[in-house]
Amino acid sequence: MTEAIMNTYGRPTIGFTKGEGAWLTDEDGKQYLDALSGIGVISLGHANPEITKVIANQASSLLHTSNLYRIPAQEELADLLTSISGMDNAFFANSGAEANECAIKISRLAGRKKGIENPTIIVTDAAFHGRTMATLTATGSRKVQAGFEPLLNGFLRAPFNDIEAIKSIAKNNQNVVAIMIEPIQGEGGIRVPNPDYLKQVREICDQHDWFMLLDEVQTGNARTGTYFNYQQSGILPDLVTTAKGLGNGMPIGVCLARGKAATTFQPGNHGSTFGGNPLACAVGAAVVKYIQKNNIAERAGELGEKMQNAFRERLSGLNNVIEVRGKGLMIGIELDSPCTDLVAKAMDKGLLINVTSENTIRLLPPLVISDDEADKIVDIVSGLIEEI
Ligand SMILES: *Cc1c(COP(=O)(O)O)cnc(C)c1O
Repeated sequence: MTEAIMNTYGRPTIGFTKGEGAWLTDEDGKQYLDALSGIGVISLGHANPEITKVIANQASSLLHTSNLYRIPAQEELADLLTSISGMDNAFFANSGAEANECAIKISRLAGRKKGIENPTIIVTDAAFHGRTMATLTATGSRKVQAGFEPLLNGFLRAPFNDIEAIKSIAKNNQNVVAIMIEPIQGEGGIRVPNPDYLKQVREICDQHDWFMLLDEVQTGNARTGTYFNYQQSGILPDLVTTAKGLGNGMPIGVCLARGKAATTFQPGNHGSTFGGNPLACAVGAAVVKYIQKNNIAERAGELGEKMQNAFRERLSGLNNVIEVRGKGLMIGIELDSPCTDLVAKAMDKGLLINVTSENTIRLLPPLVISDDEADKIVDIVSGLIEEI
């Protein structure tokens, strides 16, 4: 492998030349069942023919014009996403971190407009919000932050899934303008909060005139059984971001805003050269329509529950398994010790998985996997855990 790539991801040992559905083929022709989907991105499967057609058609007519001109595909995607989410409007970016930057900037600007000079955003332990300076500051991992100090001011950390901690901040801090949380923590180890957590956070935000900012970069786009995860809590956030699954591999991120958050920016406050371009938005619109037309969210919810139950049954009695958890096709299996070596062992058996926060196996398969493929994932992963 060339030394001309910066050493940020170590040196990967294998690469792929072709994908189809939930399957990838490596350079030697070996096939792998993909239970990671490029980290929750390829939700509709590799080389999904309907999406490929949209990419080819759009690429052969128009790629980019800039936001100085109207972009019909961007307007269509904004209409689709606002109608699904209950939000008012959208800003398009090219990644999850950028979508979060937008939401952070809106929160700060709205705070300053109401006279708060040091607007502060509450963030949580073990959160992951991205790798830009603002989003790595918001991230709750020293590994992500170490060496990049000085971090940004204006962030305050609280434990995840702890309403009392938020209430106590509310009592003692007049500078808070927003709370930023993942409805289920992804990189932090597939942490699912109490069922009433989001609802309680919403109440506190209402009492104190804070924005509720949900990072659904990973949980969005049908992965957890509804289009957005917050829809299972019967609430609306003020800001919600998503990215990963929205483009099925085409880089795109979006920040959706509602109410005061939707009218905070004026021309000149924010922008992006590539964000919202015709190609990314045409693909995003095709992804959203595919999800709706094929009831992908319901399928992900049901199949995920089935897989979790199958894991629980098969792994019950193994005392190195701490917990099987998750929602929809966002599944974590926490073991009692570090298990990053399972990634290579799974690869030997033709399965791609991920391990996050050292001891949690993370599964984010395409949402279009078959029952047989789901069974195969459960079987291989369980076998690896049994062998430990
Ligand atoms: C992946 C992720 C991000 C960062 O997205 P990028 O596209 O890598 O910038 C932010 N938040 C959450 C919850 C994520 O899972």
